[in-house]
Amino acid sequence: MTLSSSLITVTVNVELVLLLFVGVAGYPFTRFTEKASLETLSKCLRNSGLTVVELSFSKCRLYVKPGSQEVTYPSVNQVKAVRDLFEGLLVGLHAPYTVVLTSGNRKRERLSKAHFTVCFKLGNLLSANHLTFHCGPIRKQAEERVKNFLRNVMKEKEEEGYVTMPAPEVAGKKGNFAGFETLVKLAGEVGCLFCWDVAHDYARGGLVTLKEGILRRLELIDAYIDLSKYKLPIHLSGIVVTRRGEKEHTALKSGGVPWKLFLSVLREQRYLHKVAIFCEARVEGGIEGRIQEALKILDFLRGDLTIVRYNDKSKIDGFFT
Ligand SMILES: [Zn+2]
Repeated sequence: MTLSSSLITVTVNVELVLLLFVGVAGYPFTRFTEKASLETLSKCLRNSGLTVVELSFSKCRLYVKPGSQEVTYPSVNQVKAVRDLFEGLLVGLHAPYTVVLTSGNRKRERLSKAHFTVCFKLGNLLSANHLTFHCGPIRKQAEERVKNFLRNVMKEKEEEGYVTMPAPEVAGKKGNFAGFETLVKLAGEVGCLFCWDVAHDYARGGLVTLKEGILRRLELIDAYIDLSKYKLPIHLSGIVVTRRGEKEHTALKSGGVPWKLFLSVLREQRYLHKVAIFCEARVEGGIEGRIQEALKILDFLRGDLTIVRYNDKSKIDGFFT
């Protein structure tokens, strides 16, 4: 019997497990939010493989008059009691809509600053990645005001050791501050993040309907934003648009937002590990409905379909010339 040496080739199937940061935006968290509803949220996210969530303080006030319908922020104890529920998930926060940085009104600025302090403190308890907010209407010196305000809060962040990074959001209405390019450069100068709401970008006429437009944006992000320690927050949804820009958010498939082209480009450019995608679509069916909508994003990213061109020419002609 001849003993022949044989070459044994061991094939190791290395499965490249790419963790995708996809989840839901805008889940309200106020003084009146029951722990049970956040338990349900956490369970639903985990069961469906979603890994990010943006909790929203959008209606929270710093204080309310007795008997008023308005609500305050969740208390420190309330947040401490639920933070384990979000362990291992990437958490983002959304500041109240009453935060306005462009007005030039001293009182408003002071109130906005106080909101940031509260959000930062709660952000530390939740180890939140970012704090999204709207800058406000375009006014004279809007850019200077936003920049100065953010420099101040960044100083506070540094001094106090807050972990959550401010992230001004790309505005959906053309009359609001600001579009993608202005914001990415401003955030770069200040050293913070920004929140790329793709539907807003589209609604104000940003060239996200073209691959070149999306690539240009990724280049700008790489040039201006430091993503070594933070993920770039992205909001994705459908949208109803008027000539003035955003009217309202809708389900992903409505209104012509090129979300599949957008996701295809991000995947092709190996950009997914740098971002956290929050589905901000407005759909029926409570938390379950929102989870199902967010799963469309996750399923698309996991599938083999690639969209290379935006086909809805009417939308391009209507808004992008
Ligand atoms: Zn948004």
